[in-house]
Amino acid sequence: MRIDLHTHSTASDGTDSPAELVRAARAVGLDVVALTDHDTTAGWAAAVEALPAGLTLVRGAEISCVAEGGISLHMLAYLFDPAEPEFARARELVRTDRVRRAEAMVERCRELGAPITWARVREIAAGGAVGRPHVATALVEAGVVADVSGAFTAEWLKDGGRAFVPKYEIHAVDAVRLITGAGGVAVFAHPGATKRGRTVSDDTIAELAAAGLAGVEVDHLDHDDAMRVHLRGLAKELRLITTGSSDYHGTRKTINLGEITTDPESYGAIAELATGARPITP
Ligand code: AMP
Ligand code: FE
Ligand code: FE
Ligand code: ZN
Repeated sequence: MRIDLHTHSTASDGTDSPAELVRAARAVGLDVVALTDHDTTAGWAAAVEALPAGLTLVRGAEISCVAEGGISLHMLAYLFDPAEPEFARARELVRTDRVRRAEAMVERCRELGAPITWARVREIAAGGAVGRPHVATALVEAGVVADVSGAFTAEWLKDGGRAFVPKYEIHAVDAVRLITGAGGVAVFAHPGATKRGRTVSDDTIAELAAAGLAGVEVDHLDHDDAMRVHLRGLAKELRLITTGSSDYHGTRKTINLGEITTDPESYGAIAELATGARPITP
C-alpha cells in the first residue's frame, strides 16, 4: 500500500486541479491520497467526482496556525465534518484575511520595485485560497526571481522578509480542538521545517498532544535525517502517530506525488480515529 497524506491542488497553492491531482496520484501508483489544501475544503467535491478506481481519497485540509512566541505552523486536519460550524467559520476567517494580506504583499513588492499587480496575482490564484506561492509566481513571471523558492528569501516573501505581511492564524491549541470537535484527526505538518522559519519546542508539541493532537509528520522534504530521528523519538514518547508525505504542490515545488509516504498502520490509526468523514473508495 502506497499512501501520501499531504497534497495541494488549485483550491490553494498547488498547480494541479483536484481532478488532475487524483488522476496523477493513481498514475504514480498510489493507493491512498489525502487532499490537504490550505484552509479550505473547496477541492473535495471535484476530487471525489474524478476519483479513479483503486484510489482511496482522504479528505483533509492544512490549517494555518500560530503558537507560542508568534511562531507560525501548519496543522493537517483529516476526515472532519466540513459543515461543523465552528471549524468552518475559523477556516473562513483565515481565507478572508489571506486576501487582504496577499494584496498588501503585492503592494510591498511594488514599493520595492517589482512590477507585479494584484490583478495578476488574483488571476494566478484563480479562486483558490490565495497565498505567498501565488505572489511568488507573479514575481517569477516578472523576472524578479528565477523560481518560486527564489521568492522565499529575506529579500521578498520569507517569514519576516521585506515584502512579508503576516496573516490571521488560528492558535494551534484551538485548531486541534476545532479539528477534533468536527470529528477530524489533527497531525502537525512538518514540525521541524527550520528553513521556513522558527519552529516550536518539544514542550509545545507535548501541549498540543495533551489537547488532542493525534500525530506528527516525520518524513518530509524539509526534515533532515537527524530531525526525523528526533521527531520519531518524541512521537514515541508522546504516543503520537507518525506520517510521511510529499506535500505535493504540482510545479510550484520539485517533489512528486508519492515520493514520501506513510505506512499503512499509521494511516489505519488515523482512519479509525476519525468520525467526521470517511475515506472514499470508488
Ligand atoms: P502562505 O500560506 O501564504 O503563508 O504561504 C506558505 C506556503 O508557501 C507553503 O504552504 C508552501 O507552499 C510555500 N513555501 C514556503 N516556504 C517555501 C520555500 N522555501 N520554497 C517554496 N515554497 C515555499
Ligand atoms: Fe503550500
Ligand atoms: Fe505546510
Ligand atoms: Zn502543505
